[in-house]
Amino acid sequence: MQTQAAVVRAKGGPFSVEDVVISEPADDQILVKMVAVGMCHTDLTIRDQNMETMLPMVLGHEGAGIVEKVGSHVTKVKPGDHVVMTFHTCGQCGNCLAGNHLSCENAFGLNFGGVTHTGDCTIHAGDERLGCSFFGQSSFAGYALTYERNTVPVDKSVPLELLGPLGCGVQTGAGSVLNAFDPPAGSDIVIFGAGAVGLSAVMGAVIANCTTIICVDIKQNRLDLALELGATHVINAADTNPVEEVMRLTGGKGASYMLETTGNAQVLEGAIYTIAMGGEGGIVGAPAMGSTVNIDVNFMLFNRRLRGIIEGDSNSDVFIPRLIELYKQGKFPFDKLIKFYTLDQINEAAADSENGSTLKPVLKFS
Ligand SMILES: [Zn+2]
Ligand SMILES: [Zn+2]
Repeated sequence: MQTQAAVVRAKGGPFSVEDVVISEPADDQILVKMVAVGMCHTDLTIRDQNMETMLPMVLGHEGAGIVEKVGSHVTKVKPGDHVVMTFHTCGQCGNCLAGNHLSCENAFGLNFGGVTHTGDCTIHAGDERLGCSFFGQSSFAGYALTYERNTVPVDKSVPLELLGPLGCGVQTGAGSVLNAFDPPAGSDIVIFGAGAVGLSAVMGAVIANCTTIICVDIKQNRLDLALELGATHVINAADTNPVEEVMRLTGGKGASYMLETTGNAQVLEGAIYTIAMGGEGGIVGAPAMGSTVNIDVNFMLFNRRLRGIIEGDSNSDVFIPRLIELYKQGKFPFDKLIKFYTLDQINEAAADSENGSTLKPVLKFS
């Protein structure tokens, strides 16, 4: 299949839009004609090789499109179905078999390896092999090859060009609250970072009927949007000490739930001290490899928990359709985060995401 793809050829980019050939689907693959794809921080992390992978590679892991063709073993979807693509897992390792696919032991290779699980290359530029199967999809391209395990059929009545970000950033934020924390109604929560993930967490906290929802950021326009989406309090950390302010807003006890989405280790180090006794903190943001924080052991000893959360602890086949129903009912307005670009504008989209002027860039294919 002849199409165009955005290829990262060197550490730091840029993305170069090139003519490529996508292979025919193997028995277990699904060929999807792309409608739109979100851009997520992880795409830029890999572009910049903060986590090393093979290059050149076709990134993109928040794909939404229409099934064009399926391999002979595929029964989950058929041509014409609308689908969202998400993170890939093996289904065969001990953790997957135990029902904990979020801790898939083969996740790194399947999502970042740059080849399919059989070691094949499915994207070529002339004779050149390009890194493919990023998150089991490589969806910065006109067509993507994906798998049953990371492909979610979705409601055809909802505009498909909106839905790609549900596959990663949005489900990560909303799911961290709704799946990982699962707070009782009336809970208090503090969310560090008002990017696409943090604001999705704010919307999740509203759905969970949290009654104190504190959002911390250094950009006032993002904090204003947090208030519009249902945050009860915002803290501009550019001029206010967020830890002291969270303690003040929670009557000195701290928040029962803390979510760190900025990926800044220094922010995390402070954020830990906003966790109430018996409370739980979640780490979602990824700082540079090798980053560490200091933790006061005795502070943690008083029944405080701190954990990493991948992809919002989501069973995407269940969770993404739920988020779409909530969106249809006006309870999950994640479309407010989105700004559309074309594939040719991918470097502009990346720059706007990095300078904070766009919360969630989505590339639309013509
Ligand atoms: Zn697995
Ligand atoms: Zn992502």
